[in-house]
Amino acid sequence: MANFDVAIVGLGAAGGAALLAGARAGAKVIGFDRFAPPHVFGSTHGETRIVRAAIGEGAVYTPFAQRSFALWDRLSAETGETLVTRCGLLVLGGVLPHATHVPLGFLETTIAAARSYGIAHEILSGAQVRSRFPAYEQFADERAYFEPGAGYGDPERVVAAQLSRAAALGAQVRLNAPVLSIVRDGGGVMVRTERETVRAAHVVLAAGAWTSGFLPEASQRRLSVTRQTLHWFAPPATASDYEPSRMPVFIWNDLYGFPIAAPGGGVKIATETMHAVVKPDDVQRAITREDIDIVSPRVRAAFPALGAHLRGATCLYTSTPDFNFWVGPHPEIAHVTVVSACSGHGFKHAIALGEAVVQQALALPGLAIPAEWRGGP
Ligand SMILES: Cc1cc2nc3c(=O)[nH]c(=O)nc-3n(C[C@H](O)[C@H](O)[C@H](O)COP(=O)(O)OP(=O)(O)OC[C@H]3O[C@@H](n4cnc5c(N)ncnc54)[C@H](O)[C@@H]3O)c2cc1C
Repeated sequence: MANFDVAIVGLGAAGGAALLAGARAGAKVIGFDRFAPPHVFGSTHGETRIVRAAIGEGAVYTPFAQRSFALWDRLSAETGETLVTRCGLLVLGGVLPHATHVPLGFLETTIAAARSYGIAHEILSGAQVRSRFPAYEQFADERAYFEPGAGYGDPERVVAAQLSRAAALGAQVRLNAPVLSIVRDGGGVMVRTERETVRAAHVVLAAGAWTSGFLPEASQRRLSVTRQTLHWFAPPATASDYEPSRMPVFIWNDLYGFPIAAPGGGVKIATETMHAVVKPDDVQRAITREDIDIVSPRVRAAFPALGAHLRGATCLYTSTPDFNFWVGPHPEIAHVTVVSACSGHGFKHAIALGEAVVQQALALPGLAIPAEWRGGP
């Protein structure tokens, strides 16, 4: 049986980052995925993810977001891929905490983080937002936060780049290889797929929406998987107002969205729905009329110039009850770290978090995992 320093279960945003970090550190690493990432069945697809440095979800997140920018830059330089587009971010006044994953005081926490970490930002009036960024002509509040270095990441390209770079550095990658069991094995852990069994000193469990399947029943309640939908709308004839050079990504009431990310493409806008709890293998994947009817009136009110609904996609959130992360020891199996870092906002931290988890496993210096995330059930 082959022996590894670290085995990674799930090669999406977080697991792929862990695999890459292990390979960079010169460790013997292997990663398994039930599909062939990037794919559309988990949480890391749909062209764009908001990436920002000053984090309104809580003070502990900002160092991870900042580290992620440095790691994406490095990976972009190595692979020649555009992984992040820095078109800026607007937090447009009120964000609705009860309708979204964000906590109360999101705008204030964001501003406080920007100030304490020296992140370039501006506080803009409604009039300034409207004159600088015409797509936001309906924004009438007093105050908005603008972070010029923020923007959007390309989830598919990041996932692909992490895996190809990790493989080039010597990591073993097993695709279409669902892990069937993770069990204690003396001082290490045994990971079994249909085709092989490997032994590892440490396992990173980053199976996204499928994580509960590897947890004892009592802990499964801590994670809920919800169906989310993404929607692309046709830009108006003056499409230039909706291009990345003129339109920052935004968070506004219960909507968030992006400029046109691909030539000839649409403006992607979404909301969040926390009540549609699902099982990852049993999800209504196709977009329904009802999905479109929920989001469209809100989009029309905020962006009356946008045209037809072009297409939609489904995606999964795996959330803890307070929408924070769970990154800590498996409740029953020693040397296994659970990395459930979604709750609707994990992408911007994933590459730094994957690195930190592997550094911890290999006893290397790095960002410490915040105690708040280690909790467990
Ligand atoms: C609609 C939507 C919008 C979002 N917007 C943002 C945003 O704007 N900004 C932001 O920062 N975050 C955002 N997020 C959150 C972010 O995308 C996720 O937190 C992040 O991508 C999750 O990565 P992951 O590695 O945990 O999960 P995934 O990328 O889903 O990876 C899990 C992997 O585990 C594999 N797997 C499962 N079971 C097994 C098994 N038994 N054996 C082997 N492999 C297995 C799966 O195939 C999958 O590839 C959004 C999420 C969604 C769904």
